[in-house]
Amino acid sequence: MGTIYDLVIVGGGPAGLTAGLYASRGQLKTLLIEKMIPGGQVASTFLVENYPGFPEGVPGMDLSQAMENQAKRFGLEVVTGTVDHLAPNEKLWEVGWEDKKVTARAVIVATGVEPVKLCIPGEEELKGRGVSYCATCDGAFFRDQDVGVVGGGNSAVDEALFLTRFARRVHLIHRRHALRAEKILQDRARRNEKIEILWDTRVTKVLGQTGVEGLELENSKTRETRVLPVNGVFFYIGLKPITGILEGVAKLDRAGHVITDENMATSASGIFAAGDVRHKLLRQIATAVGDGATAAFAVERYLESLSL
Ligand code: NAP
Repeated sequence: MGTIYDLVIVGGGPAGLTAGLYASRGQLKTLLIEKMIPGGQVASTFLVENYPGFPEGVPGMDLSQAMENQAKRFGLEVVTGTVDHLAPNEKLWEVGWEDKKVTARAVIVATGVEPVKLCIPGEEELKGRGVSYCATCDGAFFRDQDVGVVGGGNSAVDEALFLTRFARRVHLIHRRHALRAEKILQDRARRNEKIEILWDTRVTKVLGQTGVEGLELENSKTRETRVLPVNGVFFYIGLKPITGILEGVAKLDRAGHVITDENMATSASGIFAAGDVRHKLLRQIATAVGDGATAAFAVERYLESLSL
């Protein structure tokens, strides 16, 4: 059976790292498995302005590294790997990635979300060649160039504002005539001279051979089409939960988010979930951290109940 962990955490964003901190500090033998670098979406956020305790904001990378260091100080083990196997083994759970497998008394799934693709011609073909889903990662490639940002939520507006540091012009392209983003972000976008908002507009094609040269746009009301010349395009049309390992294991909602009770327990005994992957109202670092702490505490209670 190999090593038996009290707890395996899948995913190293704020929810997973906080669960790791609480569990390790509570002296549970805990392993956290993260597919990339710990931090999740936060690690690629330029500046986090709405996490309490940082009046001037905090770079996402600094915040995630601090969370990781804090958890490791109490003994959290962290490995890199993409978990693709989660199955019951008597009263325990097998967790597998690549050619490795461990056994856990309890598991916290904190896998978060990933960008939704628009699935239009040219999007996949020009990915990494002007099509991007991460302004913080790729924005600097577009110094003094024109870019499009697709979407009207917090991500799109936040990232459009970030891109004005580099780009000459940022076209924020939204399918309706009202942004979904928080008012404070909307006001900043409207005040920023580099941002032009294209209302009631859909992107129907990404144009270009070896790199992005333009976007084919369609007016949502009149159906008129036109070409907007840009050198890059950033898609922010929403996020979908990463719950492949839970299919057939725990109950998910229609959008694929994990359904938990208020103590982060899923429908599968011994499996808990925390952070953006959960069915919940508000997906923020502050709520992910709360989920992680609750999940770790609930795991402690669960393990105690097993040994009664
Ligand atoms: P979101 O809030 O779901 O917004 C998605 C946007 O994309 C919406 O404006 C939506 O248009 C548009 N959209 C969806 N499908 C589309 C399609 N097929 N074609 C064109 N447009 C489409 O997603 P998000 O902005 O990524 O945010 C996700 C979560 O992260 C939210 O809870 C958000 O609050 C949070 N977040 C917070 C911050 C922050 O606090 N600063 C920053 C980033 C993200 P409609 O409006 O017409 O539906």
